[in-house]
Amino acid sequence: MSDLITKKYRCPLCKINHTIEFPKDFALNRPSYPFTHTYIHSYEAKYPSSDSGKDVLTILYIDKNLEIRHVEALFQSADGNIVSMEDAQRMITFLTTQLDDVQDSFDALNEKYQKLLKDHQKLLEEKEIHA
Ligand SMILES: [Zn+2]
Repeated sequence: MSDLITKKYRCPLCKINHTIEFPKDFALNRPSYPFTHTYIHSYEAKYPSSDSGKDVLTILYIDKNLEIRHVEALFQSADGNIVSMEDAQRMITFLTTQLDDVQDSFDALNEKYQKLLKDHQKLLEEKEIHA
């Protein structure tokens, strides 16, 4: 039995379907849905071109059921510079989403931490009473 789930998505750059594997619990415990997953695949169009083999930065929007709802793809240039304003805008939108997710995770964790601290304090106090 495999713990991986294979999903297909239509790549807007290559114009073909790619497959990607996720661990079964990949969508669990995300602060919000759909969440984003970023990775890089090599450009592979139906017909070879000068872009073949280039790195494609891929942003997948994945829902609770591990369904891929939306795909964004853009070429990552070799020198790391972002080529166009449009690409830059997309990256900013993407990073803002990521930041929001991180902030949400942080808030949730912090809340748990504060509760743990309180519980710990309580335990200490009880120990003192019984000492
Ligand atoms: Zn592709």
